[in-house]
Amino acid sequence: MELREETRDKAILLIDKLYNENDLRDEDLLWLLDNMNKKEKEYMFSLSKKTRDKYYGKNVYLRSLIEFTNYCKRECIYCGINAYNKKANRYRLTKEEIVEACKNGKSLGYNTFVLQGGEDPYFTDEKMCEIIKEIKRIDPNCAITLSMGERSYESYKALKDSGADRYLLRHETSNPDYYKWLHPKSVLDTRVECIKNLKKLGFQTGTGIMVGLPGYTNKDYVRDLRFIKTISPEMVGLGPFITHKDTEMREYKSGDIDTTLTILSMVRLLLPKVLLPATTALASIAENGRKAGLDVGSNVIMPNLTPVEYRGDYMLYNSKKSSGSESAQALNMIKNELDSFGYICNMSRGDSKMCVE
Ligand code: SAH
Repeated sequence: MELREETRDKAILLIDKLYNENDLRDEDLLWLLDNMNKKEKEYMFSLSKKTRDKYYGKNVYLRSLIEFTNYCKRECIYCGINAYNKKANRYRLTKEEIVEACKNGKSLGYNTFVLQGGEDPYFTDEKMCEIIKEIKRIDPNCAITLSMGERSYESYKALKDSGADRYLLRHETSNPDYYKWLHPKSVLDTRVECIKNLKKLGFQTGTGIMVGLPGYTNKDYVRDLRFIKTISPEMVGLGPFITHKDTEMREYKSGDIDTTLTILSMVRLLLPKVLLPATTALASIAENGRKAGLDVGSNVIMPNLTPVEYRGDYMLYNSKKSSGSESAQALNMIKNELDSFGYICNMSRGDSKMCVE
């Protein structure tokens, strides 16, 4: 009995320390992941929410997401649009369609456009730079975020010089062996180098992981949390792994909401000013996923602005949400939903507060 009480005291002590110092030794993070009970987790969630409130208030930043190609040369065994999935119905938007989508977004009031896609060699630097410049010509004040995988330093530099502001490149896992299993033809070092290059070039950079991968351990999460803290990205994209029926990982279970919320909460506490989306994957695994993410300290959502006729084909995982309040067009619904959750719909560029120290 006494020992149990000691354990409980230790949990609260460590959570408070994480909140006050925005850091914790790896062994203590691991201890928390191994030992926290439901009540203690809820306590941690309340502190990560408070941390978000301190820097961002109740603002939730909206980014409109344009999934511009699902062609991909990569082998990621979890992803429904990997090169080997013969069943994927491939599409790519033309420059005109991408620009038109942004115009649509602008008229709806969006000020950030996230261009995400597979690693599609069709989109050379020359093509991408033209697209970026054209979007910036129409809307010089908008922010452009790219999420299109690994490219050379020179390529990232060309994209940056053309006007791209931000880049999302999740590291997926910081365990090199696990990375190799997920990406049999690639190595973690290359991914990490890309992330470092993006930072060096002055992109607001996002990294992150999928939560609930098969056999993933708390030690792995601690390693990821340390990686994230050390890299100190402006954004962290973090959602549950969700099974896709036409991938090698079809037999594995999806990640769960509880673990996802725990890791989200810890990221907020480690990086108080980070921009942290309540991801589509989180909203796709649970009815209340978006609200739950916001309630542990997320402050970004990314409604889908992909032309409706292509939306169903950007199928990274099964049951991916892209309609209702996941649709960029459903602004009123989004506003009402956020309002009912107690949040403010913020459509400004929403730059990271880490950039304006
Ligand atoms: N090609 C780009 C964009 C990839 S898609 C890149 O390499 O960065 C964006 C993110 O979706 C990926 O980084 C991955 O973390 C996530 N994702 C892919 N398949 C998934 C799945 N089955 N379940 C959950 N998330 C997935």
